[in-house]
Amino acid sequence: MSLRERASGLTDRVWSAVAGDRTNRLIERLGRVRDGDPWFDKRGLDTVRRRPVDDGSIERRRGYQRYLGVAFAGLLVAALWYPALAGVGVVGCATAAVGVGAVRGRFYCNHLCPRGGLLDGYVRLFSRGNRTPDWFKHPLTRAAVGLVAFGLLGTGLYTAWQRGGSLGVPFLTMLGVSTLVAVGLGVVYHQRAWCQVCPAGTLSHAVHRVAEALGRDPAPRVEVDADACVSCGRCGTVCRQEITPGQYADGEVTDHGDVFSLGGPEGSTREADGVVDHGDCLQCSACVEECPTDALSLDEE
Ligand code: SF4
Ligand code: SF4
Repeated sequence: MSLRERASGLTDRVWSAVAGDRTNRLIERLGRVRDGDPWFDKRGLDTVRRRPVDDGSIERRRGYQRYLGVAFAGLLVAALWYPALAGVGVVGCATAAVGVGAVRGRFYCNHLCPRGGLLDGYVRLFSRGNRTPDWFKHPLTRAAVGLVAFGLLGTGLYTAWQRGGSLGVPFLTMLGVSTLVAVGLGVVYHQRAWCQVCPAGTLSHAVHRVAEALGRDPAPRVEVDADACVSCGRCGTVCRQEITPGQYADGEVTDHGDVFSLGGPEGSTREADGVVDHGDCLQCSACVEECPTDALSLDEE
């Protein structure tokens, strides 16, 4: 084959890559990101009236999440030279997640977590938007992830201490590996899939449940107006935690992933009373924004 024919074949391949289906799908997806959130497949739901655009608060939050994501990537890179930074980051973020968790549940995960910013700000551009399997968010899976993470970290710290090495390296290893897993899960499923099993998020969830049991006021929760809800399911298509708030209008609801509900892979079923009291709600308001009939509200004060 002549050089000219090879060059022509290469040009054809580049052009078909640029103009092919995959590229068109990516461009379409980026457009959808600009207009809204491409979590899950929404086919069949577009006949429902869209409510007017929100007041911009979610868009503003997405803006600073992107900065958080850049800061997180910067920390990871800087920690390659100064591993102690990874230790400061991990301990600081875990402490903040648990501290805020006692008062506001998983508020931290959506509003302040730098890795959450990376996932929401950037990984979602490449996410396939699939739901995770039910077993993935089961409390035992979450417990196993926590045990493996803290077990490996503890072992690494002990070994580094015995050998007189840097204690930052085990933190950097854990941060790097868990971020790779989070990004991989984010691409294969949806961008916040990792957040359903993240040990810091699980601790935040558990601490808030304990604080509630000790008499502390619950975190702000999404409320559902049963008269306005038309059970379209659209709210469940945007929830990063795979909660469907409309199911909490009344009747029975099945919770997946509640740390204190060992309901098996099918989740646990209980009576709903119009309040989304799921411990993994990030208080992000995405469902409130998405509901076409204004059936949802979240008082963030
Ligand atoms: S709460 Fe809104 S979005 Fe969710 S099912 Fe009901 S009407 Fe649909
Ligand atoms: S506010 Fe709504 S969309 Fe956001 S995590 Fe809670 S239930 Fe899901």
